[in-house]
Amino acid sequence: MIIKKIGVVGAGQMGHGIALVAAKAGFSVILRDIKDEFVKNGISHIERFLDKSIEKGKMKPEEKNEIISNLKGTTNLNDLKEMDLIIEAIFENIKIKKELFKELDKICNKDTYFASNTSTIPITDLASVTNRPEKFIGMHFMNPVPLMKLVEVIRGLRTSDKTSYLIKEISEKMGKIPVEVNDGPGFVSNRVLIPMINEAVYCLMDGTGTAENIDNVMKLGMNHPMGPLALADLIGLDVCLDIMNVLYEGFNDSKYRPCPLLKKMVQGGYLGRKAGKGFYDYTK
Ligand code: NAD
Repeated sequence: MIIKKIGVVGAGQMGHGIALVAAKAGFSVILRDIKDEFVKNGISHIERFLDKSIEKGKMKPEEKNEIISNLKGTTNLNDLKEMDLIIEAIFENIKIKKELFKELDKICNKDTYFASNTSTIPITDLASVTNRPEKFIGMHFMNPVPLMKLVEVIRGLRTSDKTSYLIKEISEKMGKIPVEVNDGPGFVSNRVLIPMINEAVYCLMDGTGTAENIDNVMKLGMNHPMGPLALADLIGLDVCLDIMNVLYEGFNDSKYRPCPLLKKMVQGGYLGRKAGKGFYDYTK
């Protein structure tokens, strides 16, 4: 394996999880965020997860020490110049991501591979701001990263076979199961999942079922661990709406129009669990 050093950019929800699984797999990891407090916060989340694993008897204290010794934090982007692979997990904003990749393209060695954990932004478009589109790929981890098996590996138009092969190998080394798909709005995961959620919101809006009954049909009848409306509350209704808009605009097809009730709930601040209220009430 030619990849030994991994730079993870963004120490939020996804970034710290990715840094954890990478350090656990034995890679030397540098975790970068824009402020010291964000880096520290990411690393303390990692430590807390490892402590819980020790409490549950799933890990020995020596293992925790080894993982932590594989991990360094920084706010300086230049510290990533020697990395073999960069995995980006910053805000889901195309302008900010493009600026970051342009900068990294200048800083990093020409052999460094770039991966983005974006949920929706076209990989081909992000790759286009770099001089290495053949070394650029989507590496879409699921939340929570340490627990979820899937990595959706997204090939941009110019991603090489070698890059795809390598990233699948690295995902496996991190204990994940990579599934390769091609670039396209929402890739496969969100293109299938979010319209299902949107349809459940239509069922609620037109009175076909109550929230509980819609969720129960999908849980009991389709064996889904969670109903679509409860899942929407967990993901965040604003995130669901953003993804529907990406699909609607990306395909120019009315079948992806966001449900008016979803829009209204976002406008009213009912964003799901994080707001205390979405399709269900979390304040009681
Ligand atoms: P988050 O808001 O928890 O974390 C983003 C972090 O990026 C923040 O700490 C922020 O300070 C940092 N950041 C912003 N600009 C930066 C820069 N230029 N350099 C370094 N750090 C920077 O967000 P998240 O939920 O972890 O999402 C990150 C990415 O992962 C997004 O593209 C999102 O679409 C994707 N994603 C999220 C989930 C999820 O369930 N949360 C699942 C799969 C993919």
